[in-house]
Amino acid sequence: MQGVRLLGNEQIEIGEFQDPVPGPGEALIGLRYSALCGSELGAYRSSKPMAFNAGHEAMGVVVETNGTQALKPGDRVGVHAIWGCGQCNWCQEGKYTYCDKRRGTPGTHAQLLAAPEHALVKLADDIPDEVGVLLSGDGLGVPYHAAKRIGTQPGDVVVVLGVGPIGLGNTLMQSFLGTEVIAVDVNDRRLELARELGARHLINSRETDPIAAVKDITRGAMAHCCIECVGRSDALLQAFRLVGKAGTVMALGEQGDVPVNIGRDLIRQDITLMGSWFFHLSEYEQMAELYRRGLAVEKLVTHRFPLRDAAKAFAEFAAGRTGKVLLQMPE
Ligand SMILES: [Zn+2]
Ligand SMILES: [Zn+2]
Repeated sequence: MQGVRLLGNEQIEIGEFQDPVPGPGEALIGLRYSALCGSELGAYRSSKPMAFNAGHEAMGVVVETNGTQALKPGDRVGVHAIWGCGQCNWCQEGKYTYCDKRRGTPGTHAQLLAAPEHALVKLADDIPDEVGVLLSGDGLGVPYHAAKRIGTQPGDVVVVLGVGPIGLGNTLMQSFLGTEVIAVDVNDRRLELARELGARHLINSRETDPIAAVKDITRGAMAHCCIECVGRSDALLQAFRLVGKAGTVMALGEQGDVPVNIGRDLIRQDITLMGSWFFHLSEYEQMAELYRRGLAVEKLVTHRFPLRDAAKAFAEFAAGRTGKVLLQMPE
């Protein structure tokens, strides 16, 4: 099969790889779409070459099964990026991110993928392919899971700090839930995308101080919640100052130590600091229901490239010129 190999230093190639063979309880998927994720950019920019690629959001059609219970050839399926052991209590509940023996998808920027049945979700006929990628991958799952954890109410003011793909997903989700979204970024193109996805206010933090601007918009009250999608300590520290008393700071950008002043930033403001990692495949049906009720998931995708143009796809994505980018696999 053909697939993407990350060579390091922002170089990639399309190579020939051995076809995967489905193990017991697994299905072989002929992938149709694989989405690029911001979490792959570390590997893309690193000087270390990879044996394969870090793609993990995909959908396709079952071509062969090896002892699966419900799946059969011809079924359209979405692939979940986190695979649990399938046995433990968390896995029984469909919460693979909590499984101690979890593992990641072995690269989906390729024509074929062998995956355990429990990591696949059968897509209903009314779910188009592109929507299926977003509902089973993290493009919408992360914002959905975070929204459930935050519990925002219609009318709340929510600052989305950083509107890369995850920030854009949060903008879409929060707007759909009826909150007033303030999008903050340094990239005007992405701010414009945020507006199209429902953001009511745009702040380019290169030109305008977000704290002063949010103070203005909220007449001094500051936001109810700030969703940090940058993954930098200065951004997380700024999030504490963008929310008002009893506000919520949701950390979605992965990072290490951040020097939070517990007294000033948390305790004396009654602030809730939360983290949220990924989502549960068991939440898929709830997300599909939101799509059926009008959540315009498909708007998150701004670019599509055939597999052979994967280098261009990565370059555009890494330059911050896109929303969600899909690679389309050759038949
Ligand atoms: Zn991802
Ligand atoms: Zn498990």
